[in-house]
Amino acid sequence: METSVIHGQQSGPHLLVSAGVHGDEFEPIRTVQVLAQTFEGNHERLQAGTLTLVPCVNERAFQLGQRCAEDGMDLARTCPGQSDGSVTEQAAAELSELIRSADYYIDLHTGGVAYELFPLAGYMLHSDRQVLDSQRKMAQAMNLPLVWGTSSQLEGRSLSVARDAGVPAIYCEHGGGSQVRTNAVNDYLTGVLRIMSQLGMARESPAAPSVRWNVEDDRPESGHLQVCNPSPLTGVFEPATRTGEIIRRGEALGTVYSLANTSAAVLSPCDGLVVMMRAFPRVLEGEALALVLPV
Ligand SMILES: [Zn+2]
Repeated sequence: METSVIHGQQSGPHLLVSAGVHGDEFEPIRTVQVLAQTFEGNHERLQAGTLTLVPCVNERAFQLGQRCAEDGMDLARTCPGQSDGSVTEQAAAELSELIRSADYYIDLHTGGVAYELFPLAGYMLHSDRQVLDSQRKMAQAMNLPLVWGTSSQLEGRSLSVARDAGVPAIYCEHGGGSQVRTNAVNDYLTGVLRIMSQLGMARESPAAPSVRWNVEDDRPESGHLQVCNPSPLTGVFEPATRTGEIIRRGEALGTVYSLANTSAAVLSPCDGLVVMMRAFPRVLEGEALALVLPV
């Protein structure tokens, strides 16, 4: 995979930033490209440490314009992968090597074509106090409105590899759909530069803090977005709310209409913040429709 390694003026921490773990998430790719341009063209700007940038981990999925490559494996469930495995297993193995070599790690995502995500920085509730504290600081510095600590039991993720290697790591989500939103690229750039400043790698004038919610949830499946509010039918999903809204228990998230024109309303199971909504209208029975997070 395409990788840029940029060395700073002085020794310091090694930060890895990756995008394109899923092939249909485009703002992260642009963010990493802009970071590469910023620091490759101006080495003095990187005052200390090493910056490793991967603009697209899952190049095969990107070529297909899909979340996953042709082997159908989700790279974010395949880590640490296998160097002699399928295309996705190989990419996962290569990424896992890079993660183990880093001191800090940021993995940038969006909801892809299928989902819209409220901007958030997430981390695992690591059992090592020092790693956990570093992750909390990174997530705050990322400066997205939601900071979300979730179960450390989740496997197969890039963050699972970081957890096992004791590398402080966060992942970020922002929007989704089939376009490049300039505000998402800008928010991601600001956040990564703030973290670099916090790590003493670059001097950036700090943007005003804009975190609105801090949530930590240690239930075993917390942070597993794909299991939330499964669709009762295969059909067309018409949403009744959107990400960033505060919703009450029992209020409508939306309705699914089957091709036979039967319908099923989907209601919020709790009071909370709408963090994820289905964006691509065709849903299969059992696919996640939305996530409401108690805040
Ligand atoms: Zn993703």
